Amino acid sequence: MARIDPVELTRDLIRRPSVTPKDEGALDVIHAAIEPMGFVCHRLRFSAEGTPDIDNLYARLGTGGRHFCFAGHSDVVPPGDLRAWSVDPFKGEVIDGHIYGRGAADMKGAIAAFCAAASQFVERRGRDFGGSISLLITGDEEGPAINGTVKVLDWIAQRGERINACIVGEPTNAKVVGDMAKIGRRGSMNTRLTAIGQQGHVAYPHLADNPNHQLVRMLGALIGEELDRGTDYFQPSSLQITTIDVGNPTTNVIPARATAGFNIRFNDTHSSKSLTEWIRRRLDATGGRYELDISVSGEAFLTPPGELSALVSDAVESITGRRPELSTTGGTSDARFIRAHAPVIEFGLVGLTMHKTDERAAIADINALAAIYGAMLDRFFP
Ligand SMILES: [Zn+2]
Repeated sequence: MARIDPVELTRDLIRRPSVTPKDEGALDVIHAAIEPMGFVCHRLRFSAEGTPDIDNLYARLGTGGRHFCFAGHSDVVPPGDLRAWSVDPFKGEVIDGHIYGRGAADMKGAIAAFCAAASQFVERRGRDFGGSISLLITGDEEGPAINGTVKVLDWIAQRGERINACIVGEPTNAKVVGDMAKIGRRGSMNTRLTAIGQQGHVAYPHLADNPNHQLVRMLGALIGEELDRGTDYFQPSSLQITTIDVGNPTTNVIPARATAGFNIRFNDTHSSKSLTEWIRRRLDATGGRYELDISVSGEAFLTPPGELSALVSDAVESITGRRPELSTTGGTSDARFIRAHAPVIEFGLVGLTMHKTDERAAIADINALAAIYGAMLDRFFP
């Protein structure tokens, strides 16, 4: 079994233009890299009406003992305007010690680093180390996330397999490898609120019902008080009005409807259900008629500091000399689904260039991350 070079594996992965929902052979590259180590690979293709079919990979080494899972995604966001890139985003070019390309940071570099860490671990300890290591790699993280991690987790649970700890390889570090791990994420919900009035002449307002006035009162009720003051681990929840649309070109007509949109980023003192009730209570109190359309991107979750965060921090410190800040900032990730199955912490590369033109990862960072993942495995399987 050849030892895996995380740099070459990252470049191989970048050469597969796996823009969601396409795979383009990205999972084959991972599959081929880890199967010789003894990983039993399952390719799981899921579909749902109205969404594209998605390929996923679940691979496990070992059948018993404690089970450490590395989760990640092989899909990437589109490169955008190719002329804005200084290199081909799907060639995996190396310039000045950095691998350039879409997915280098988010998160093909981290997948390659974990594969390398696993190969070195197996080289040191053999296949029968008394536990299990798995990789859960989805092709549907940057898209709707319907045929990806959620369904793979259900499939794993239905087989009676339990995961004891999970690391997600998202690019969590703010500036340098080792400065930040994520122990939770805020939830997110988007809402459209339409105030319903009665159209009429501005000079005869008693014959009309002005939805603009209703909407102003309703929005005032929503932003008039804070949702909470934050917790030890989370910043305060935030409701931000994103748009107010009436579209009335006249100066003498009271319109029939007025609409606003707002997003709520919420911590774990709320759920989308409790917030929906909170919103309705405040809207109902204004006495106006309205329609509410809510879509939930994800609930808030937290893996409270404990055994797993200590293991991650110790492993990071042993390689970088830094103890990472345990943060809950940023957008959502697939960790929101994993939290229902196992304690989960996110740790990966530096996020500065993710989703941007000239996305890149330092070769030194990828090697450091492989060493950190290896240190995590050593501590998890003493
Ligand atoms: Zn990502």
